[in-house]
Amino acid sequence: MLAREMTRFEVQERIEAGDWAILPVGACEQHGPHLPLGTDVYLAEYQAEEIADRVPAVVFPSVNFGYSWVWKGLPGTLTLSQQTFNLLIYELLESLIEQGFDKIMITNGHDSNVKALRYVQRDIVDAHPDVELLIIFYPNMKDVYQRYMESPMWHGMFHAEEFETSLMLAYRDDLVHMDRAVCEYPSKPALYGLDASSLATISASGVYGDATYASREKGKAMAAEFADYVAEIARSL
Ligand SMILES: [Zn+2]
Repeated sequence: MLAREMTRFEVQERIEAGDWAILPVGACEQHGPHLPLGTDVYLAEYQAEEIADRVPAVVFPSVNFGYSWVWKGLPGTLTLSQQTFNLLIYELLESLIEQGFDKIMITNGHDSNVKALRYVQRDIVDAHPDVELLIIFYPNMKDVYQRYMESPMWHGMFHAEEFETSLMLAYRDDLVHMDRAVCEYPSKPALYGLDASSLATISASGVYGDATYASREKGKAMAAEFADYVAEIARSL
């Protein structure tokens, strides 16, 4: 159920029934020549909806912005600082807790949000030890990736390649331009990971990996696996 389509009394019933609150969190950033800027938002919503199909949950409106420092300055990319992003998420979680939700999931679609979300999670559980707060970012990813993906990751990182493109084909294929999908494995600069060199300057297309291998079927199957995994954990809590 989508919170933005519900009334306060309908939400009240869901709180009393012990439903999960789900907050999707994405980013507004470049995803190569074939995927929309909102890819990470769509994929956060895709994870949320798949989970809500399996466990009783209220899905709240998505956070459309994240920490996208590496792409800043590129057309269409908007970023928050780590501090602003942390505070934004913290305050939204406080709102959910104050009204009575005690089981909350954040479904995240953006790799660079992961660290900030972890710190927020720690602050929230320090302040509210009785609240169950799960951060969902493609759980069991390594195993799923190995079984479905035919192209290798670029140095342990994925962006706008086979994985994200497959999920987008499964969720919103009307926004995917497969005729523009590319394969790019740029050579890794010697200082990458040591200095602050930005991904924006390493890949010409903005793709890291091979988007041409993507398919709707792989996306559907992976999304179902992620959601099944999370639903099983959620039911046990
Ligand atoms: Zn992405």
